[in-house]
Amino acid sequence: MSSLVETPAALTDPLVLAGLDHWRTLPIKQQPNWPDPAAVAAASAELATLPPLVFAGEVDQLRERLASAAAGHGFLLQGGDCAETFADATADRIRNRVKTVLQMAVVLTYGASLPVIKVGRMAGQFAKPRSSDTETRGDVTLPAYRGDIVNGYDFTPESRQADPARLVRGYHTAASTLNLIRAFTQGGFADLREVHSWNRGFAENPANARYEGMAREIDRAVRFMEACGANFDEIKGVEFYASHEALLMDYERPLTRIDSRTGTPYDVSAHLLWVGERTRDIDGAHIDFLSRVRNPLGVKLGPSTTPDDVFRLIDKLDPEREPGRLTFITRMGAGRIREALPPLLEAVKAEGSTPLWVTDPMHGNGITTPTGYKTRRFDDVVDEVKGFFEAHRAAGTHPGGIHVELTGDDVTECLGGSEMIDEATLATRYESLCDPRLNHMQSLELAFLVAEELRK
Ligand code: PEP
Ligand code: MN
Repeated sequence: MSSLVETPAALTDPLVLAGLDHWRTLPIKQQPNWPDPAAVAAASAELATLPPLVFAGEVDQLRERLASAAAGHGFLLQGGDCAETFADATADRIRNRVKTVLQMAVVLTYGASLPVIKVGRMAGQFAKPRSSDTETRGDVTLPAYRGDIVNGYDFTPESRQADPARLVRGYHTAASTLNLIRAFTQGGFADLREVHSWNRGFAENPANARYEGMAREIDRAVRFMEACGANFDEIKGVEFYASHEALLMDYERPLTRIDSRTGTPYDVSAHLLWVGERTRDIDGAHIDFLSRVRNPLGVKLGPSTTPDDVFRLIDKLDPEREPGRLTFITRMGAGRIREALPPLLEAVKAEGSTPLWVTDPMHGNGITTPTGYKTRRFDDVVDEVKGFFEAHRAAGTHPGGIHVELTGDDVTECLGGSEMIDEATLATRYESLCDPRLNHMQSLELAFLVAEELRK
């Protein structure tokens, strides 16, 4: 494993080091209004002294896996909360999310015979872009909640005040989350021979029953292979990577370090970073900063994206056209994907680039109920996924992955699914502080559906 330390400037191109701060001179969106700049500087300085959360070698390995998927030999499964919270970074909740992703991955791998790259929206997904800087309730207006790494959700002036101490707490919460993820995925729990145990503890429902059926088949196959002499002890662990939206520059910049092997910068807050639909301006701070780190990058693309936008993003973020470097995460909406995605696929194909194409069937399908809940219809999610596969089949490009907001818990945040969650039911277990997530059963159902699409 490489060491990630700030090597003496003499060993690194001074232009590279200076470039990491060029974003400071550019227009920037969605940053908090920190009340005390000296306190932010102190928090950033502290972050800059703390150990990396991920290692450059792991980041490189993920880039290789993504390159293979972009070439048609794999599928990216990226999932987790819309917004992680400090309070929910508990063993049970983290384990349930990891189990859900492992179960979805096994459904996809077994169903489609494709290697599945498992990436959590976890261990750092704490900062949120908001449509308004403020929130008004009755006659009180306060700063909007920007995620636990910035301010509190409680609607009081104290809690909504941006607090830089939260930057450091975010780091430590990410570290303990990642520690547990590493233990679960490397310590034997993710062993394929445990495929049944990942289903334990979840409420019984039709998706679980279907999963159990598949798990029995896998079990038989594993025992058959063991009897033939295959060594399953060698594949006890699974690779599980961490990702989040690179939004908050006062967190990302101090966690960017120079890799001592290569003298190049890595953002060691996560393996994969993505830039959101709202902050991907080609001349803005976020794109400039991310263009300078070696991590694989994701870019969200909404329905109004033009081929020209895409070309400019490719030129800026992936000038060398390096396989695995760039993933486009389309979030068009079920009603728009069939017209909005094909021109992008055709244009990029004609240009000769091979980014990884992933569908986020969540963020283009938000609705608000008359009772005020932000929700999504499971049917719309499914429809966007189907539109994604149709577009790729027509263009002859590889439908390379899925990006979803999910939780392993039994929440009632998205409408529909075979449990038929309706508007009245939403109130019973609506826990998200931000966007609605698929619950455990809806996540499994979606995985079965995606596996079927991949087989077509
Ligand atoms: C998100 O992924 O939570 C998000 C805000 O997405 P987007 O940038 O696509 O709106
Ligand atoms: Mn979201």
